[in-house]
Amino acid sequence: MTYPNWLSQRSYLSGDRMALSFQEQQWSFSEINDLALAYAGKLTALGIKAESRVAILSKSNPQFVFVMYGCLHLGCEMVMLNERLATGELAYQIDDAQVDSILVDDVLKEKIVSSKVILFSKLDDTMPVRCEPEKQWQKDQTLSIMYTSGTTGHPKGVRQTAENHFSSAISSALNIGIAPEDIWLCSVPLFHISGFSILMRSLIYGMGVRLYEKFDAKSSAEEIHNGTVTHMSLVGVMLERVLSEMEKASVQASPRFKAVLAGGGPVPVAYMERAAACGIPVLQTYGMTETSSQTTTLQSADATRKIGSAGKPLFLYQVIIDKAENPGDKGEILIQGPQVTPGYIGKFAERNVQKDGWLHTGDIGYLDGEGFLFVVDRRSDLIVSGGENIYPAEIEKVLMTHPAVREVGVCGAASEEWGEVPVAFVVLSKETTVAELLVYCCEQLAAYKVPKRLSVVEALPRNASNKLLRRELRAWL
Ligand code: ATP
Ligand code: MG
Repeated sequence: MTYPNWLSQRSYLSGDRMALSFQEQQWSFSEINDLALAYAGKLTALGIKAESRVAILSKSNPQFVFVMYGCLHLGCEMVMLNERLATGELAYQIDDAQVDSILVDDVLKEKIVSSKVILFSKLDDTMPVRCEPEKQWQKDQTLSIMYTSGTTGHPKGVRQTAENHFSSAISSALNIGIAPEDIWLCSVPLFHISGFSILMRSLIYGMGVRLYEKFDAKSSAEEIHNGTVTHMSLVGVMLERVLSEMEKASVQASPRFKAVLAGGGPVPVAYMERAAACGIPVLQTYGMTETSSQTTTLQSADATRKIGSAGKPLFLYQVIIDKAENPGDKGEILIQGPQVTPGYIGKFAERNVQKDGWLHTGDIGYLDGEGFLFVVDRRSDLIVSGGENIYPAEIEKVLMTHPAVREVGVCGAASEEWGEVPVAFVVLSKETTVAELLVYCCEQLAAYKVPKRLSVVEALPRNASNKLLRRELRAWL
């Protein structure tokens, strides 16, 4: 029930291959391994050892990667902190995770006040002491702990084991394929599963990572055009910006470029058409922190036939809809597979995440007649009005197509007559009236789904992942 230490094994098997590049610098797997060993020695000198729980807060830079790899050599549990969080939010997670130390990139030191902080500059100044890297990793060993986005409530600290990351990487490879020359452009956050999973694939496949501290649409477009990268992970809005740059420069993706992996929600059809015109295959995915990255993926070839779908499960995973009898029946999405977390830490440690062997995702969805998954909405945001189910996302989608609407959020408000009724909050991009927007809804939605109240607001409540917080909308009522 063990794996060889992936860092040592990769360095032993293909140490000369490019592992990481950042701006003008690049490192091979054996160089990365040496650096990781040096950091492991420094961390040991500072009292960190196997099974220590260590939080890390950093910008996406090479040092962050080396520090993480140093922790992996020692067998620490890494709590990945989101640099976009406010001080109070970070304090909550640090307290919840009961960490032993907090490793902090100097530029972010203002964000955390704690005696447990060890700055990266302190690591630089520390003389490494001799230490033995772990030779083997237990499959059920926790490598990383990541907090969920906190969209539906308090963020939950998710354990991600070696087996979770390994099966996630293997399933992705069975779907996309791998080749020795692959290089994955990473400008999604390393503290989030979207970025961290790229590092895990790198070690497991022997694949290079082209790291960016921040997303840069123009440089990404150039790398895709020049074929200096073969894959890229992004969300819909990032794809739109890369496409705009490629269109502006009238360039196509290099034939070496293989795919972009798009997460977070369905990619609009218009973007898919533009991507096709630029020669970029787009794989849309559905996943969550609890499933260590992708669970289902929609192939480019199916994109126009299955608009709005998140595709089919990767090979090792099973996806079913709770209590559904026929295709199209909506219910909670349940997932089973070796990438599913064994559980949470801290406040949610007692919560059983795999009741009856299935992860209950809290998302509502359906499978169509061909087994394609459609994610409909969050279960906790469902509005029950006069016995009818209303999904806020359906109303939001309709309002979003109105030319004067920039953003919209819908939630349920208590009603004596109906139990609950939908209400909407909109941010406008140009002038219009509430009456006009309601008429627009009436034309496209059944009467019971038309918002009973619509308010124009300056901005909507969002979390650090830019996700709409409908629970705060409910609090506004
Ligand atoms: P919390 O669990 O704290 O409420 P969260 O669920 O937003 O936060 P994440 O794990 O970052 O935290 O996000 C996973 C969620 O994102 C999924 O459960 C789902 O609701 C949404 N999601 C991910 N991919 C898609 C997709 N392709 N289509 C629709 N929704 C998606
Ligand atoms: Mg969640």
